[in-house]
Amino acid sequence: MYEVIIDTLLGMLFRKSSNRDEEFTAKKEKFVNGKLSIIRCPFCKWSPKESSRWDCWDCDYPEYFYAGCGTQWNTFETQGVCPTCSYKWKWTSCLQCGGWAKHEDWYVSDYGTE
Ligand SMILES: [Zn+2]
Ligand SMILES: [Zn+2]
Repeated sequence: MYEVIIDTLLGMLFRKSSNRDEEFTAKKEKFVNGKLSIIRCPFCKWSPKESSRWDCWDCDYPEYFYAGCGTQWNTFETQGVCPTCSYKWKWTSCLQCGGWAKHEDWYVSDYGTE
């Protein structure tokens, strides 16, 4: 009985966002307004997508990290921290040009200047 009422109320509250396209758009906007819109490769200006993935894996130059756990994740959602082993990657490679840059160098502090 109560469950039915709650379901109805929730349905009324969230009817607007129940549309799949709307949900997708909202997620994308959040992503853009959050952090990723001001992230770009310092070399080629490529911007990572939400679906972009980096590997936590053994790495020679420039990270010299040899305890990679094999996780694939979007490193810009965690500021370079592997969600599995909590290792913080100081360097981030560009998936487009292959260049390595300090993780913080990917963030554009002043939105207006390029
Ligand atoms: Zn890891
Ligand atoms: Zn690049």
